[in-house]
Amino acid sequence: ESIIQLRQVSKVYANGSHALVNINLDIKKGDFLFITGPSGSGKSTLLKMLYGDEHPSNGDIIVHKECPHQLRGNQLSMLRRRIGIVFQDYKLIPRRTVAENISVVLWAQSYTRQEIERRLQPALKMVGLTDKADRFPEELSGGEQQRVSIARAIVATPPILLADEPTGNLDPDNSWQVIKILKKLNQLGITVVVTTHDENLIRLSDHPVVQIRNGKLYR
Ligand code: ADP
Ligand code: ADP
Repeated sequence: ESIIQLRQVSKVYANGSHALVNINLDIKKGDFLFITGPSGSGKSTLLKMLYGDEHPSNGDIIVHKECPHQLRGNQLSMLRRRIGIVFQDYKLIPRRTVAENISVVLWAQSYTRQEIERRLQPALKMVGLTDKADRFPEELSGGEQQRVSIARAIVATPPILLADEPTGNLDPDNSWQVIKILKKLNQLGITVVVTTHDENLIRLSDHPVVQIRNGKLYR
């Protein structure tokens, strides 16, 4: 059963740029998929459409039985709660500790203090940062900051995790650590979609890969 489905999806930006052309893609529950391709090929655009940040110009998208581009306000928020997102630049809050950065999503969803405590520890452990819970982002390496952002993405246990160039700012060692965490999350049942232009990482990882070139998808 597909948890993510794209049918004949195209995206033309307002400036006339054809970011995606007739994309068909089925991602099944529990899959781990790499989306690769050069910079500017359309990878981010594809992920953005999955969480309703961009709308397709044509075609249909189904995520978790919903059409993200047809949802508004609260309905879209509800869908986004079921999708963890990791970005290349981490997007941590500078003046909040690691623990606070991870908890923010739970506060926003009105979890109780007790439930937040219960969820925080396993999330920290998953990314190997139990002993850095009280540090601030600027006190961490890039790899550690990215691991915080992964913990934040999964602390509310979403069934889908999207990672847009998560290793784009990291050296090979830290990149591989991040991929290993994503693999572990996938083994726990989370459907994982990762964009990267790092061919080396893909070769080491032994997961299915699709490639985007000039907005077209190739298997
Ligand atoms: P990638 O993630 O593979 O680097 P993107 O999805 O960011 O590629 O971009 C695909 C194409 O769409 C590029 O030509 C890019 O310049 C263009 N593009 C991306 N975002 C916008 C936007 N907001 N407005 C106009 N063009 C955009
Ligand atoms: P696992 O923990 O999943 O068994 P390993 O750490 O044993 O994974 O590594 C799996 C593969 O990735 C091996 O081929 C290993 O050489 C390679 N590898 C491990 N760490 C790195 C790294 N930091 N950079 C590049 N390749 C690595």
